[in-house]
Amino acid sequence: MKFDYDVIIIGSGPAGFSCAMQSTKFGKKVLIVEASDHELGGTWISTGTVPSKALRAAAKLIHSFHSQFGDETGRKPFERFRMEDIMKYKTPILENKTRQFVDDIIKNKVNTARGWGRILDANHVEVTDQVGKKVTYSAEFVLISTGSRPETPKQFTVDHKTVLDYTSILKLTHIPRRLVIIGGGIIALEFATTFSALGTRVTILNDKDQLLSFLDHEIKESLDKTLKKRTIQIINNSSILHITENDLRNCNEVFFKTTDEDRVQVTETDHVLYVGTKIPNTEKLGLDSIGVKLDEKGHVIVDKMYQSSVPGIYAAGDVIGQPSLASASFLQGRLTASHMFGGSGDASTGSRDLPYGIYSIPEISGIGLTEEQATELGIDVTVGRAYLSSLTRAYLNHETDGVLKLVFRSDNLKLVGVHIISEQASDLIHLGQAVMAFEGNIKYFIERVLNYPTYSEAYKVAAFNGLNRLHKAGEKYRNLLDKE
Ligand SMILES: Cc1cc2nc3c(=O)[nH]c(=O)nc-3n(C[C@H](O)[C@H](O)[C@H](O)COP(=O)(O)OP(=O)(O)OC[C@H]3O[C@@H](n4cnc5c(N)ncnc54)[C@H](O)[C@@H]3O)c2cc1C
Repeated sequence: MKFDYDVIIIGSGPAGFSCAMQSTKFGKKVLIVEASDHELGGTWISTGTVPSKALRAAAKLIHSFHSQFGDETGRKPFERFRMEDIMKYKTPILENKTRQFVDDIIKNKVNTARGWGRILDANHVEVTDQVGKKVTYSAEFVLISTGSRPETPKQFTVDHKTVLDYTSILKLTHIPRRLVIIGGGIIALEFATTFSALGTRVTILNDKDQLLSFLDHEIKESLDKTLKKRTIQIINNSSILHITENDLRNCNEVFFKTTDEDRVQVTETDHVLYVGTKIPNTEKLGLDSIGVKLDEKGHVIVDKMYQSSVPGIYAAGDVIGQPSLASASFLQGRLTASHMFGGSGDASTGSRDLPYGIYSIPEISGIGLTEEQATELGIDVTVGRAYLSSLTRAYLNHETDGVLKLVFRSDNLKLVGVHIISEQASDLIHLGQAVMAFEGNIKYFIERVLNYPTYSEAYKVAAFNGLNRLHKAGEKYRNLLDKE
């Protein structure tokens, strides 16, 4: 063999892991280089996706138990449960995921090298370990899957004691009574609803004029109602001035301004969670010296097969930018291996009808066009809605907040979008995704038997609701059922 390996993968997150697994299926020799000396799995297993979902699952259980079998003395969940209880729930989940990861790479004979990877040229990667020892490995291909990290704030320091990030908040030893979250994206919303479920009073300081502007307007309205019900305070258009400790009042104070009011405002809190914009990990990788092109934000520029500007060097995952999700990174990593060794790999599947899942409480998920987008594109669409309060299953679970909304073409009933705010929304979305992928129409939900009682019943209710709307607009019911 001309090289030590067929492919060297820098970074063990979902993009790197799935490229490794797919490469071994082609019988290839793989090396994963990982900078962390004690963890594997990147933001996916170690610091982001799985740990935050484990915290959410524990918080949701506590919330459901507490709201159903509430404490007659009116204690908040944080007075009844301790962070230790949550850790007991979370720790085995992470241990299990790491064990699965290690089992998979051992079973598939993937080698690992711990240390900082730096690309010397298209076929050579230098790895510097914790004590500074350098080893150079060679391969036919290199994958950059080094992920991203939150931007460093300028106005304050993340000290991991008072001001936390998404990694250090998962190591808190107590459930805070008050939490200020700086940031208005998906992760901010997830942590806000998770801590609110534990009884924490949450304030979100959002630098934009609204939360998650990409959501369908009705989903957004439903979300706003839920946040209000949970007394989560949202302050939009805010810019942080500084954060100081107030010893007299035994609290921390966050000073900020909003564009609406030209005065300094202050909010008291126990802790601050900073959720900054994602920055790609492309520094100190040697990319400029070998000519790998980056965009203005530092993401690796790739073509539709995830190849960088240097032949033989690929990039996948957060390092190439949006959508910056573990779900998409898994697919991108697999497609890079298919292209390297299978000579193909239809990259268009990686970007077509991409669903998103937001693990707030309740969850939010969507795919395809919103009603607003379809109208802007000049497509004549009708919508069908199912409110969770009309579903038996939602009642059984005491989770009746939310709505599922179908967006379909008025002429042939073809499904063009699904938008959901509901428990299990991130799972539910896949039924709509499959119907859309096979270019189906909403009659599928009407004509097929769906299990009862389920959350999926919402599709049937929404499809009937949509047909009724067309019927009321003047279409004969028989014509509607004959539409193909
Ligand atoms: C709190 C939180 C919750 C999230 N929840 C979800 C979710 O529910 N669903 C979802 O789809 N996505 C979620 N995400 C996003 C998801 O975690 C990322 O999109 C995904 O992990 C990116 O995968 P990746 O392979 O690009 O990189 P990462 O998972 O970030 O892994 C990159 C790895 O590369 C290593 N590395 C970096 N530089 C070097 C170097 N020079 N040499 C060697 N190793 C290096 C790092 O140590 C790291 O292990 C969440 C993110 C966060 C922060």
